[in-house]
Amino acid sequence: MPLSNLRDRLDQTDRDLIALLAERQRLIGEVAAVKLDDPALPLHDPGRERALLGRIHDLAEEAGLDGYFATTVYRRILDHSIRVQASRQAPRDAVRVAFQGEEGCYSHAAASRHLAGQQALAFTGHRTFQDAVEALRRGEADRAVLPIENTVAGPIEDVYDLIAERGLVLVGEEVVRVEHCLLAVENVPIGQIRHVGSHAKALAQCSQFLAGLTDVRIEDEHDTAGAARLVAESNDPTRAAIAGEDAGERYGLVVIQRHIANRKDNFTRFVVVARDGVAHDARLPHKTSLLLTTDHRHGALAEALQVLARRGLNLTKLESRPSPDGPWRYRFYADIEGGTHEEQVEAALAELAEHVAAVRVLGSYPQAGAATAEGASGDGIATVSTPTVKPRLAPSAPVVAPTGKRYRLVSREGRSEDTIVEIGGVRIGGDAPPVLIAGPCSVESREQIFESARGVRAAGGRLLRGGCFKPRTLPYDFQGLGFEGLRLLHEAGRAYDLPVVTEVLHPADVEAVAREADVLQIGARNMQNFELLKAVGSTRVPVLLKRGMMASIDEWLAAAEYVLAAGNERVILCERGIRTFETATRNTLDLSSVVVARERTHLPVIVDPSHAAGVRRWVPALAQAALAAGAHGLIVEAHPDPDAALSDGPQSLTLEALAELAQTTGCVASPAA
Ligand code: PEP
Ligand code: MN
Repeated sequence: MPLSNLRDRLDQTDRDLIALLAERQRLIGEVAAVKLDDPALPLHDPGRERALLGRIHDLAEEAGLDGYFATTVYRRILDHSIRVQASRQAPRDAVRVAFQGEEGCYSHAAASRHLAGQQALAFTGHRTFQDAVEALRRGEADRAVLPIENTVAGPIEDVYDLIAERGLVLVGEEVVRVEHCLLAVENVPIGQIRHVGSHAKALAQCSQFLAGLTDVRIEDEHDTAGAARLVAESNDPTRAAIAGEDAGERYGLVVIQRHIANRKDNFTRFVVVARDGVAHDARLPHKTSLLLTTDHRHGALAEALQVLARRGLNLTKLESRPSPDGPWRYRFYADIEGGTHEEQVEAALAELAEHVAAVRVLGSYPQAGAATAEGASGDGIATVSTPTVKPRLAPSAPVVAPTGKRYRLVSREGRSEDTIVEIGGVRIGGDAPPVLIAGPCSVESREQIFESARGVRAAGGRLLRGGCFKPRTLPYDFQGLGFEGLRLLHEAGRAYDLPVVTEVLHPADVEAVAREADVLQIGARNMQNFELLKAVGSTRVPVLLKRGMMASIDEWLAAAEYVLAAGNERVILCERGIRTFETATRNTLDLSSVVVARERTHLPVIVDPSHAAGVRRWVPALAQAALAAGAHGLIVEAHPDPDAALSDGPQSLTLEALAELAQTTGCVASPAA
């Protein structure tokens, strides 16, 4: 047969293949419609998928094709089917988010966190960064969330290149703590593991741990969560994956070792990209990402950087990548603090243009941690209403306390400047904006604390509270979930990037609680438990010291002195109401203590209006009053279903009421805090 005829027949075969793929996709659409009517049917059925791939392999081999080749092609087809089904099933107004990897991976976690305030979200995992970006470009997704750099492994070059080449806009960023675990189907000794699979970057981040293993094959997978899934599917106890604990839980794996990364502080920064810009609240602190192409001459980059320096613009990132224009040419990615709506940035951009071959603004967006970056309004615009009470009415220049007080370390006499206690990037005290701490009285279940964390994060809270060891008046009342609750609290806090506050009741528990809590609370009933004060004083974990319900202000400060004297200077005082003859409220909120304590001590002072009021409808007014009196923050009880709460339900706000309180008091997240 002549070549041209052969080519015609090839063309016809390709047309047939495409027609068959289109027919397959049409059928997938029908499957999606059936699944839509029956939410019990899973979108992704790994068992069915494995069986199908097995059949394809055999069919291919029978037909004289390579089985591996056919299954590889089919994996791509199946991935695409899942995406088509997911996009059909997404509610009409859902924000569709593309990421690389499988559900449970770190990108998925970053995406969920970034868009936590949205009404409806539909996530789809893709095999590669490029696939995720293409889904965005084709309009199948509204956002793509991509990792751009890791504090241990460095930049993710492919993502830099994709951003530059695909004309996308950066609309946000998110930073996620990476906590790699070794996961297996059962709790086997590490010595029995023979294969460890993970994404190449994760393997690199755990290289020291891996080097210590003997007789183990390391396998490079396309994704951490995918590696976890493969281990689960193999059901082979000699196989392990390196991934986050979330991924392990999703696939029913157990953690056989935690904290295996070379460095403890392992964070990944993700960028959120869109086809077009998104409106942001201009009051949030912004970042602007630039792509600079310099001329091929000496000092070109230095000149560009000098422009930024002269304008006082802080450069937070500079990354170079080879330019496609030829060898030894580079393009530079620069992140600067400030938004394009700010005068200095605008002026700097105009001046930069005169010094470089090209400057492109990749995006201008709120810095990670700024409120809920794409806020709860669902239209991509974070709206922060004007506070009805100016949070700072207290005198900012503190008066030095009268001499003679015996609490030397706590007193302003020894230290006139306000102490600012910093917890995972959140600053409490001094002139830092007031901080909202919120969450349920007690951790009750995984679902309850995760839902609470979501609500606290969406409201603009900066720390999550939740009691695990509860001091209850009656021994028959719910005593808390103990260490199991602490683990859930810790996980919920990590999932929503909220440091966690929990009460410790016993000196013997302090060390263990301090490992998982970011702040140790000393409850009102324990304010003068001196052994407990010394025990928390010997840790380096910040302490939230509640005022005893029958303690004078000076006794309260003396209790704080115990903690400082034991070596821990990170103490936050908390007024929560005292016992008086008044019985209408659970306690009497003594706001004068805020004014007096701020005068006598340099330590931050916050207020708990919930335990003072005992009645939820009185909480917002007391919260406003507390800030007006000069409190550095609020700790408020909130619960997804207060009437079903196992403790302090009557004083707990709903999550909606919490969001409202945050807005009316102006006590919302601010990354400058
Ligand atoms: C609590 O915070 O849930 C608590 C028990 O508070 P207090 O010690 O102020 O009563
Ligand atoms: Mn309580």
